[in-house]
Amino acid sequence: MSRLDEYRARTPRSAELFERASRSLPGGSTRTTVFFPPYAPYIASGEGIRIRDVDGNVYRDFLGNYTSLILGHAHPAVVAAVEEQVRLGSAFAAPTVVEIELAEEIRRRLPSVELLRFTNSGTEATMFALRAARAFTGRPLMARFERFYHGTHDIAMAGTPGIPAAIDGLMVTLPWGDPEGVERALRGREGELAAIIIEPVQGSGGIRAAEPGFLAFLRSYCDRIGALLIFDEIIAFRIGPNGAQGVFGVRPDLTTLGKIIGGGYPLAAFGGRADVMGIFDARRRGALTHGGTFNGNPVAAAAGLATLREMTPDRYARLEVLGDRLRARVGDGFRAAGPEARIEGVASLFQAFAGPSESAVATGHDAASGLFLGLLLEGFYLAPRGMGAIAVPATESDIDELADAILRVVGSLAPVVA
Ligand code: PMP
Repeated sequence: MSRLDEYRARTPRSAELFERASRSLPGGSTRTTVFFPPYAPYIASGEGIRIRDVDGNVYRDFLGNYTSLILGHAHPAVVAAVEEQVRLGSAFAAPTVVEIELAEEIRRRLPSVELLRFTNSGTEATMFALRAARAFTGRPLMARFERFYHGTHDIAMAGTPGIPAAIDGLMVTLPWGDPEGVERALRGREGELAAIIIEPVQGSGGIRAAEPGFLAFLRSYCDRIGALLIFDEIIAFRIGPNGAQGVFGVRPDLTTLGKIIGGGYPLAAFGGRADVMGIFDARRRGALTHGGTFNGNPVAAAAGLATLREMTPDRYARLEVLGDRLRARVGDGFRAAGPEARIEGVASLFQAFAGPSESAVATGHDAASGLFLGLLLEGFYLAPRGMGAIAVPATESDIDELADAILRVVGSLAPVVA
């Protein structure tokens, strides 16, 4: 039986639900990043790192809603905080104490964030950070890096269908890790540049960490030309108690956050220098408008605060040990078996490449989906592109069993032609 046949045989109720969903949702899906062919398993519940689908299959979840559930599913501290807040009311057209507490916790961890604003999604966070940079500098141009992902608003997705060409002209894409290439790409337009946005650890780009020296170059380059430096730490913030900026020792002007700061609920943020963020101060004439019916939603803020309070330095250290253990065990196995596969990552983030390609996005589709489907049948849930994140409830044996499953599945895949 092929992998696909086996998957279909194990997931008949998910297949039925997908058929039903296809009558209401385009392609049966409401989120591009959780669709894969022929259909995804419908998940009924989750606890710790285990999720159960509607057919009763149990998977160890090493994706955690795309790296956002650092404590795993339904962590008791998060459930308690959410229950308490839900009983008090779910949303008000008024500020609440919990938004201050979460803002203070973030500022304690990120000294570069002097003032911040909450949003509902990472997409809104990067959209507002970029807008703030343009408003503050009075300049129109933005720059990002190849293999970026900054969400789905127009500037972040410039160059894709549905976005006017006029917007493409406002975004330059820069080469990664290449100071001269950056200077070359922006030569003659330095005075137009509002900001450079970079993921210090790329997510969609294949869990690729920037060299600290490259980030330091960007810091001094931005200072030299009067542009702002924005760290998109929506994924990278989880690599240490003080985020990627703490690990790499470079201070951005603005930071975007999401995923773990909402503790599994929809909440994100952007913040940074007080002079830049001050443009949102509604007491000022000409302040930027940042409405949002659910900005700083108390339920999500309570979940985020409970999560960050649980995330003590020793927990980050342990996650890193587990990440290193996974990378060492898989890396050793790959070397011994000789397949052209690799595993990379930082701290609790990892990326398995089933083929020789450099880029997760460009990884031969068959190899990536073969790895994914193979792991699903082994009872492990990763991103279809082979990315994963380790959550606090994971044990050493979970890690070893995942490593062994990755080696078994990659060993059984047909060689990929790059
Ligand atoms: N930036 C980065 C680096 C991300 O990883 C993501 C989400 N994967 C976003 C922005 C967008 O966040 P959201 O999906 O919450 O809109």
